[in-house]
Formats: sequence, C-alpha cells, structure tokens
Amino acid sequence: PLLANQIAAGEVVERPSSVVKELLENAVDAGATRIQLDVERGGTRLIRITDDGHGIEREELGLALARHATSKIERTEDLKAIHTLGFRGEALASISSVARLTLSSKASTASDNSTGWSAIAQGQDMAVDIQPRPMPVGTIVEVRDLFFNTPARQKFLRAERTEYVHIEETMKRVALASPQVAFTLKHNGKVTKRIPAAQSEEQQKQRIGSIVSNNFLSQSLVLDASIDHLRLWGWLSHPDFHQNSNMSQYVFVNGRAVRDRTLNHAIRQAYQDLLPTGRVPAYVLYLELDAEKVDVNVHPTKHEVRFSDARQVHDFISRAVSDCLLSQGE
Ligand code: ADP
Ligand code: MG
Repeated sequence: PLLANQIAAGEVVERPSSVVKELLENAVDAGATRIQLDVERGGTRLIRITDDGHGIEREELGLALARHATSKIERTEDLKAIHTLGFRGEALASISSVARLTLSSKASTASDNSTGWSAIAQGQDMAVDIQPRPMPVGTIVEVRDLFFNTPARQKFLRAERTEYVHIEETMKRVALASPQVAFTLKHNGKVTKRIPAAQSEEQQKQRIGSIVSNNFLSQSLVLDASIDHLRLWGWLSHPDFHQNSNMSQYVFVNGRAVRDRTLNHAIRQAYQDLLPTGRVPAYVLYLELDAEKVDVNVHPTKHEVRFSDARQVHDFISRAVSDCLLSQGE
C-alpha cells in the first residue's frame, strides 16, 4: 500500500500547493465557515489547516487516511453527478505516504465534554496511532516535512518564496469558489492574507477586488447570462484593461476551479479582435450547469472537466462573453 500510495501521490502531490488544494477542498466539503492555513518555509516544513467543519468521528479517522476511502460518494451512480469537491478518497492517503501527516478532529456529533482525536501517519504503511487531543469541533490537518522520504521529488521544490506564491494562488482559487467561507493565511508565523466571508452582493464584490485586484474590479464588466440549463456569471475585464500573462483568469464550473481548454478557448475567441496581439483579458467567471452534464472524474487533480455537450457549452460561453463586451458601449 505504501508504494501504491506513493505512486498515486506522484500524480496528486506535485508541490506544497497541491497539498494545500486538497486540504482546503476537504475543509470546504466539510461545510467549514472559517479556514485557517498556516505554512512554514513555503509549506515544505509545515502545512497546517484548521477548519470548523463537521469533523470526523473517532472510528472514522483511520479510514479517512486509507486509500480509496471516501465518505462523499456511496454508489457508482453518484459518480455521474458529483456535488462535492472531493470524491476519489486518495488525497490523505497520498499525502501521508510522502510526508508526516497528523489528522485531528472533533466531530460535531461528539458530546460537548468529549475530546478530539489525533491520528498520526508518517510515510509508513498507514500504520496509525490514535491519541486524544482537546480541540473545538472541526478538523486540523498537519503535514510536515513534505517529500522527506522521496528525495527525487524534493529536488523539484523551488525557492521558499515561489512555493509560497503557489500556495497563496491556490487559496485564492478556493476562496473565489467559496464566498461564504472566511480564510486566513499565515506564512512563517505572520498573517499574509485575510479573506473575509461575503454575505451580500456588495461584500462579494469587495471580496473579489481584494482577491484579484481592485484595479480589475473597477474596470470590469458584469456578466450574467443563461440558456437552457446553462448559466454564466461573473466579471470580465474591459477590453481597454489587458495584461500580458495569464494571471487573474479564473473559471469555476459548479464551484470547482478548473483549467479547461474548451472554456478558455471560448473566452479567448470572444475577445479576439478587441485586444492588441499578445495581450490577454482577466476574468472571474462561474459556469453553472446540471451536475450530470459535466464529468469531473477526468484526472486525479480534478482540474479538468469534460462536458457531455462541449459544443453547446463553448458556443454559449463565447456568445455570452461577446455580447457582454459589445453591449458595454451602449
Ligand atoms: P475525498 O475528499 O476524495 O473523499 P480525501 O483523502 O481527501 O478523500 O479524504 C478522505 C476522507 O476524510 C473524506 O472523504 C472525509 O470523510 C474525511 N475528511 C478529510 N478531511 C476532512 C475535513 N477537513 N473535515 C471532515 N472530514 C474530512
Ligand atoms: Mg479530498
């Protein structure tokens, strides 16, 4: 199992920010309203995520660390319409095969005076040791010394600063997808980013500004279009505002941050003749469609999706973006 988990980790855990992504998604899936992320040395020494979600019962802790154990889907049919960010049940097992992982939790179902519990797994065949740990309801995952037992991977780690920047970017993506959740990020003991939860539309706008940039928000166009079962909404940069790198391009499909060729192509096509060559737009766009019409089980990192009607999705997006860009002059 250790070897199998390390092989799986090869696909899922590329660098500290990939660990952060999986752990943040788990906290969101657990219904957390506050998530605190503490990292040290760009996440190579420590990644600690504290959430106030529903937690894990003591009896389930060992299972949560086992490969292919997920509490999120029960039947094959569930795979056809996935409503959680996770579903593969391999993140914790993979991470614990290449780092020293502690999973601590107190379930919301636990009685008030009961304690939380900690399970420790460190790159050693899932042997877990369970100890009491006093804590509030929620979950704390601590990942230390990433790649300590896989020197080949360790060599690919970049400077602390670079790994930190990837972590911050990952947190921004998850935060953009989950407006109802407050996030705090600390690096080497100092708070580096605070993203409050947004209740109203106005707060949601401010939040987008603080995550992406106020400059983007002040020059952006608001989009909201739907046909049939498809809805696209969000913010698009005005053609006068452009950039030369693919920064600040965010697309979410049913609340999941994705990098998808169909979607990117559709957006690029709409901007085609409006931008100087070599310049690209910025955007934060949310696509919503029936869960049955999109397959998210394409790749272990879950960044890619497949649409059952890719042509329709492409044309709808291209048209919606194009209409929005053309209407702004009126
Ligand atoms: P997946 O998210 O695909 O189910 P993971 O390996 O990421 O698989 O997590 C395994 C299981 O551990 C989850 O299905 C869930 O039951 C539990 N779990 C992990 N993180 C948390 C958390 N922060 N809060 C509550 N439960 C969690
Ligand atoms: Mg998960």
